[in-house]
Amino acid sequence: MAQSTKSDLNLDKIVSLAKRRGFVFQSSEIYGGLNGCWDYGPLGVELLRNVKDEWWKKMTLQENIEGIDASILMHPKVWEASGHVENFTDPMVDCKECKARFRADQLEDVMCPRNPNRPAIRCQQEGKFTEARQFNLMFKTFIGPVEDSSAVVYLRPETAQGIYVNYQNVIASSRQKLPFGIVQIGKAFRNEINTKNWLFRTREFEQMEMQFFVKPGTDDEWFERWRQERMQWFLDLGIRKEKLQFQRHEKHKLAHYAKDAYDIEYEFPFGWGEIEGIHNRTNFDLTRHQQYSGKSMEYFDDATKEKYIPYIIETSAGASRSFMTILVDAYAEEDTGKEIRTVLKLHPRLAPVKVAILPLVNRENMPDIARNIFNDVRKDFRAFYDDAGSIGRRYRRQDEAGTPYCVTIDSQTLQDQTVTVRERDSMQQERVSSSGILKYLQEKLKR
Ligand code: ATP
Repeated sequence: MAQSTKSDLNLDKIVSLAKRRGFVFQSSEIYGGLNGCWDYGPLGVELLRNVKDEWWKKMTLQENIEGIDASILMHPKVWEASGHVENFTDPMVDCKECKARFRADQLEDVMCPRNPNRPAIRCQQEGKFTEARQFNLMFKTFIGPVEDSSAVVYLRPETAQGIYVNYQNVIASSRQKLPFGIVQIGKAFRNEINTKNWLFRTREFEQMEMQFFVKPGTDDEWFERWRQERMQWFLDLGIRKEKLQFQRHEKHKLAHYAKDAYDIEYEFPFGWGEIEGIHNRTNFDLTRHQQYSGKSMEYFDDATKEKYIPYIIETSAGASRSFMTILVDAYAEEDTGKEIRTVLKLHPRLAPVKVAILPLVNRENMPDIARNIFNDVRKDFRAFYDDAGSIGRRYRRQDEAGTPYCVTIDSQTLQDQTVTVRERDSMQQERVSSSGILKYLQEKLKR
C-alpha cells in the first residue's frame, strides 16, 4: 500500500482534514478570516508542541547548548543594527487596473486574484503594473500612549536578534565556552505581500532557531556539521528521504550577512519549498551590535589568550512550516480492499493522541474495564476514549487523527483479561494482557 503520490495529493484535502479534525482553523473565521493567520485546534496544538519539544530536546540535551526566551518587542536600534530597517524588503507591484498587489520577484505561476484564469505575468507584460517599490516586511507598532515616530517598535521578524543581544549575558551566566549554541523557539511576524499555500507563508508564525558561536576559521567545519545534523532531524522524524533536498544559495544571491547558506527543502504538492535555512552568518551580526550599542561583543579565549568576535552558524527552521511538512508527508489514502482509508502516518512521538480506548459494545462491564484502562494510560499518554459508532468508523477516526494505537475491549476480555491492540500503519492486531497495556505502550512509544 503506497502512500499517495504527488500527483493525487492535493493540499486542499489536507487543509480540509486539518479543519475537520481540529488541527488548524482559519483565524477569526466567523468574521471571514484574517489573511495569513491560522489557529491551531486541539489536535494541532498537541502536534505543534510535540514538534517543538522534539527540536528543543534534540538541541538542549547537548551540553554546549543553552536556551533563552527573549521578548518579541525589542529596542528599535536592534533592527537598525541587524539591517532589517534598511534591507528587509520585498519588491512590490500594483495592478493599475484591478488594484491587486503582487511580489514583483514571484510573478511566475501567480494568477490574478480577480480573474483566476489569467496569469499575473501577462498583466505585467501588457504594462498594467506600477514600477516595483520596496516594501518593508516588519510590522510596526508604538510603545506607550503616544503614536509618534520616537515610539515606533517592531514585532520581531525573526528570533535570532534576541539571541545576539543576549550572547554576553548567556556567557556570563552559564559559563559556556566557545564553541557553544543558544536556542530559542518563538513567534515571528512578517507582513508578507502575498500569503499563500496555507501554513507555508503566513504573517504570524513560529521559528525554532539556533545560533552557534565559533572561533573564526572553524566556521566551515561547524557549518557542515550542522547542515548534516539538521537534515538528519527531519529524517529521524520519519519524513521521506526522497522528499527532502538541500538547495545551496548561489553566491550572488547570498544575504548581506552570509558567507554560505543552504536551505533544506521539502517537495510539497505545489513544488519544492524551504523549510529550514542553515547560514554561516560570519561575525556580521555581533560586529554590527557592537557598533550600534557601543558594547563589546568580543570573546576572550582563555585557552589561547586571544580576543575576537565569534562567527555564527545559524539553523533557522519554521515550527509552522515543519508542522505543515510533517502533516503533508504523513497524509496517505490507502485502499484496504474494502474502502479507501485516510490515515496520518505520523511518527508515534509526534502523534497528538497516542492511544484510543474503544469498548466494543456498551454492555456487561466492558465500559468499566475500558474506563479503567483509559484512566491508567492517560497518566502517561494523551489518550482518547470513544464508545460511539461501529468499530470500523472508530478506527477510521483515529487513523485520520494519526493515533498510533487503538485498544479494543471485547467479550474475550471478560474471559481472559486480554485486549486487542491495533497498530495504525499495518492495521495488525495483537492480544495483550489488559494489566500490561501501559507497559506495552511505554515500550512501543519509546522509539
Ligand atoms: P522565504 O524565502 O520562504 O521567505 P526566508 O528565506 O525569508 O524564507 P528565513 O528568514 O531564513 O526565511 O526564515 C527561516 C525559516 O522561517 C524558514 O525556513 C521558514 O521555515 C520560516 N519562515 C520564514 N518566513 C515564513 C512565513 N512567512 N511563514 C511561515 N514560515 C516562515
